Amino acid sequence: MKFDTVCVHGAKDLNNRTGALAVPIYQSATFAHPGVGQSTGYDYARTQNPTREPLERLVASLEDGLEALGFSSGMAALDALLSLLEKDDHIIASDDLYGGSARLFDFLNLRAGLKTSYVDMGDLKALKAAIKPETKLVFIETPTNPMMKITDILAVKETLPPNVLLVVDNTFLTPYYQKPLNLGADLVLHSGTKYLSGHNDTLAGFLVTRNVPIAERLRYISKTVGSGLAPFDSFLLIRSLKTLALRMDKSQTSALKIASWLKDQPKVTKIYYPALADEKSLAILKKQATGFGAMISFEVDSEETAQKVLESVKLILYAESLGGVETLITYPYLQTHADLPPERRLALGITERLLRLSVGVENSQDLLEDLKQALG
Ligand SMILES: *Cc1c(COP(=O)(O)O)cnc(C)c1O
Repeated sequence: MKFDTVCVHGAKDLNNRTGALAVPIYQSATFAHPGVGQSTGYDYARTQNPTREPLERLVASLEDGLEALGFSSGMAALDALLSLLEKDDHIIASDDLYGGSARLFDFLNLRAGLKTSYVDMGDLKALKAAIKPETKLVFIETPTNPMMKITDILAVKETLPPNVLLVVDNTFLTPYYQKPLNLGADLVLHSGTKYLSGHNDTLAGFLVTRNVPIAERLRYISKTVGSGLAPFDSFLLIRSLKTLALRMDKSQTSALKIASWLKDQPKVTKIYYPALADEKSLAILKKQATGFGAMISFEVDSEETAQKVLESVKLILYAESLGGVETLITYPYLQTHADLPPERRLALGITERLLRLSVGVENSQDLLEDLKQALG
């Protein structure tokens, strides 16, 4: 089956005796045992739930993985992942990263004695130099949030000693455009809140892998702390994923139009969109992905212009988050990346003049009109 068909048919309710097309919401905290020492396969919902399971199978197949685990948020997924590590273990992460991920790395540095180095993953020499005997995990985003830097997943994998896990946060491109497990990644992380859910109404997270022993350790962590995705949210994710391919196509088509329009506006001084990246980044992207996504960051001529745009948009919503049907505009400096140390923010180019647009599925003409009047 092709990707878009799997989206529609990939989650089947294995317990279905009614012919229902939709996977039911098994809103049950516990499950009765048929006899002493016997189980139906379900005992207690923190451990397994029959609505979450088909969703996890679906996400595993979309990423070409063997196992997927659904979590209550992307951050819960990252926290479970980092629970695989021990005190004094070393992590190397992309220098440009979702602000919440950086906050969790920094928090666990203090609380759990993990050590994190941040590296520009485009610079493989710097990556190599950062590797220590204690390095256990390398965490990358590509494209990065919000500067859209492209990292060569395979080249990073080839730079690492075999015992170091490579984890790719695939939230921006989704498996529709990029499948990191086919490029050497050991694990994929998702904020399922974004494109996978796609409607700005549900928090979710996923970890996907082909490494079954690691998946078992992650399931142990998930059941121990109770961070698994709830039945109703699992149902919403199954429903949303049916239209993932449609939504990605539509959003990307509009993003291409909007990015090429923005690029020519006198008040726009810089634009960061993968399709408009430099030659080297574009070559890497084309090698490892089949699309550019629908996230655009751009810099305007002054802080006043940036704030005026945020206050003037009418259809486009000034809100944190991305990947939903509604087009959102974000101010990384004050929102997603507000907790980064100021010097790191500035070094990356996250200034008072940077805006980030998540293009939804509205008519692109309406979106362009709105941007035109807001920038005017
Ligand atoms: C939002 C986001 C996260 C965190 O996910 P939540 O679902 O908000 O917990 C992680 N990585 C990226 C790239 C994100 O955009």
